Amino acid sequence: MELQERDERRAAAEAVLDRLTSAGVVGVVLPWVDTSGITRMKSVPLATLPSAAQWGVGMSPVFDGFLVDDSIVAGTYAGSAMGDLRLHPDLSGLTVLAGQPGWAWAPVDRYAQDGTPHVQCSRSLLRRLVGELADEGLTVRAAFEIEWVLGEADLPEGADPDAFVPALSGPAYSMTRHIEVSDYARDLLAALADQGIAVAQFHPEYAAGQLEVSVGTGDPVAAADTALLVRSTIRAVSMAHGLRASFSPKVTADGVGNGGHVHLSLWRDDQNLMSGGSGTFGLTGDGEAFIAGLLRHLPGLLAVGAPSVASYLRLVPSHWAGAFAAWGLENRETALRFVTGPSGHRQAAANVEIKSVDAAANPYLLMAGLLAAGRAGLRAGATLPDPVGIDPASLTDEGRREAGIAALPASLEEAVRAFEADEVLTSAYGTELATTIAEVRRGEIALFDGMSPEGITKAVRWRH
Ligand code: GLU
Ligand code: MG
Repeated sequence: MELQERDERRAAAEAVLDRLTSAGVVGVVLPWVDTSGITRMKSVPLATLPSAAQWGVGMSPVFDGFLVDDSIVAGTYAGSAMGDLRLHPDLSGLTVLAGQPGWAWAPVDRYAQDGTPHVQCSRSLLRRLVGELADEGLTVRAAFEIEWVLGEADLPEGADPDAFVPALSGPAYSMTRHIEVSDYARDLLAALADQGIAVAQFHPEYAAGQLEVSVGTGDPVAAADTALLVRSTIRAVSMAHGLRASFSPKVTADGVGNGGHVHLSLWRDDQNLMSGGSGTFGLTGDGEAFIAGLLRHLPGLLAVGAPSVASYLRLVPSHWAGAFAAWGLENRETALRFVTGPSGHRQAAANVEIKSVDAAANPYLLMAGLLAAGRAGLRAGATLPDPVGIDPASLTDEGRREAGIAALPASLEEAVRAFEADEVLTSAYGTELATTIAEVRRGEIALFDGMSPEGITKAVRWRH
């Protein structure tokens, strides 16, 4: 970052001070996501924002090596307490926080002291990949779907503080459940609207206490920023209502988990390449190649997209989580669900949903991996196998083999091995980040070694 850019960043921050002051803002949160998928942060009082924009705010690089329980892995390129990084707020994402009166936030890019992007900054990496696709005339529109469960925050005296007591008792997807949550959901929708987030849908989901919100698409960096903001807003509104939100992949050992599905479409010259073509379901050749790249690299992608030991308790067949490496039209049991949208609206709506991933993922890291995988498919002119129109679990092993349907990794260890063997992914992340990803995952595998599903879900229940 040159001195002139630093001056410009300072000027941009000075220009928003009056607006923030009149909105009652006292401090600005600088959030970023670590390798284990936890949003960490620092904050500055409002008056310090210009200096933070110009020079950044110090934060140790040790956080790259943090695990989900706040222990630290002694990694090859992460986990050392030496050195310092600078958190630079990106003011294009500046938002007055509706769920935390008096606070604003701006997502952060992490820089080294010398002004170059920190080589393990997931947000900077994602922006670089978006830029490289743009150089090829391609844009991606993306959105994260967010599922969470609501538990009671106030538990009876003597209760296990990590216990999950569902705050809702009505049937899945039911009006009863909506009435139970009516005031909360109103406050949540209002908070999201105040923050300029375009909500597409809100509904009660299937699992105990589970809800879902989906939002409009944006460019990949904005989509990841939005995912962070929506989750923090949900957490804040939940706490204000005496409730506790969990985005953990699997909140209880049995039942359906929380997904963090990603929707992607690929565009060139304002044309959605997932529609209007002569391929299956209207795919263009490039749209197909991009999806084929995702399919090809899914096993390794799970090390970033389903990054928790608990992710593999969620990612099981017949739980709508997409446990098989296959694709299909509106198929919720294949990892890739192709969505055409209603006829007449397909050019705008067609997209692919990556179902196997969950909200323990760092959304920037995941999105970067998805773009790298899709781009590799494009470069190779990859083609898709036949789409699958049934639940692959309904076939025998042999039936699946004949249909060319493979199971995705069934454990984090398997996913990490697939990741390490995937040169497209490791080279997109670069040696340092790829090594850290694998080491952090192995640190978490060791952390939960030998633990029962009940023990694992309880240990990570309130961490994401
Ligand atoms: N909760 C399911 C999951 O773990 C997804 C349900 C749905 O299809 O929206 O991904
Ligand atoms: Mg859902």
